Amino acid sequence: MNRQKMKHYEIDGKPDILSLTLPELEEQITLMGEKKFRARQVYEWLHVKQVTGFDEMTNLSAQLRNKLAERFCLNSLFIVKKLASNTDNTLKYLYRLYDGNHIESVVMEYNHGTSLCVSTQVGCKMGCNFCASTIAGFKRNLLPSEILLQVYEAQRDSGRKISSIVLMGIGEPLDNFDNVIRFFELISSPDGMNLSLRHISLSTCGVVPKIYELAKLRLGVTLSISLHATSNEQRSATMPINNKYDINELIKACKDYFKETGRRISFEYAVIEGVNDSKDDALRLKKLLSGLMCHINLIPVNKIDERDYTSSKKSTLSFQKYLTDLGLNATVRRTLGADINAACGQLRREYEI
Ligand code: SAH
Repeated sequence: MNRQKMKHYEIDGKPDILSLTLPELEEQITLMGEKKFRARQVYEWLHVKQVTGFDEMTNLSAQLRNKLAERFCLNSLFIVKKLASNTDNTLKYLYRLYDGNHIESVVMEYNHGTSLCVSTQVGCKMGCNFCASTIAGFKRNLLPSEILLQVYEAQRDSGRKISSIVLMGIGEPLDNFDNVIRFFELISSPDGMNLSLRHISLSTCGVVPKIYELAKLRLGVTLSISLHATSNEQRSATMPINNKYDINELIKACKDYFKETGRRISFEYAVIEGVNDSKDDALRLKKLLSGLMCHINLIPVNKIDERDYTSSKKSTLSFQKYLTDLGLNATVRRTLGADINAACGQLRREYEI
């Protein structure tokens, strides 16, 4: 895709080699006085064989491996903790980053394959009041290499092949736009993991200008919108972003995304008993989404310690019935990994061992 200008991602003053695209790596390697084809070899070691050290690049001379190690930083994630669910095959990883910060990723099994939920930031600024990821505040954006390594590391450690990715972990992906786009470029590279962007979903709480920007790139990723409410009053009470870009602006941006990409929008809706699950909510939702090709994913709101929102299977199913009776396309999302705090909205950057 090569849409972005060369960017300098650095770790401790050295270029972060895993965040470089192949053309950028070729430029760097040539600048080092090496033959251009060496860059492709290095790229393959990094992104196909997914090695963790320059030493492992055995078709390169020891001298070149040393030069690479001197010039570049090969980023890595350290697994601090790994939890396996007793109720399903979900795995949750807590990773330490090179600067001591922490993030989480979740491996989930579906009939269609293994999916990975990745984080895009250390913490989150968005302040949605039902979500654990925002409670400890925001620290920093993840580098492209750090989003990518969550995939490589989960695959290596679990021995499972990741066939789809959701950007639904800690952080707001559209608040780290450039690094997320670069991650897309790297993960879909035919010289790397070569994962089709059609197998990736990006979830946003509604950063409207960035939805338009993403639409223009026509990448084929599925856009998921964390909607969770049917009126501005209701949405602003739980999601501060709604004060900046209201629900009508958000839906307008979704229509543009569909027009530009032809991709059906997916709406996430955490059902909170007695708060957003009435017949009137269903009617408002119908009106709001009219004329938009979309799908509604209902999630019984997950428990987090700091809040006392409740959900029940009964209220979620009856809300689903209201919606389907109105002709809307709504399914209930299977809750995975709730026993290890790996479900939607339960990930956090702070932890206790
Ligand atoms: N910041 C992005 C990516 C996070 S995705 C976004 O907001 O979309 C995580 C999803 O889990 C979002 O849809 C979020 O709204 C939802 N979520 C957060 N807390 C939740 C909870 N307690 N129960 C169910 N879903 C929750």
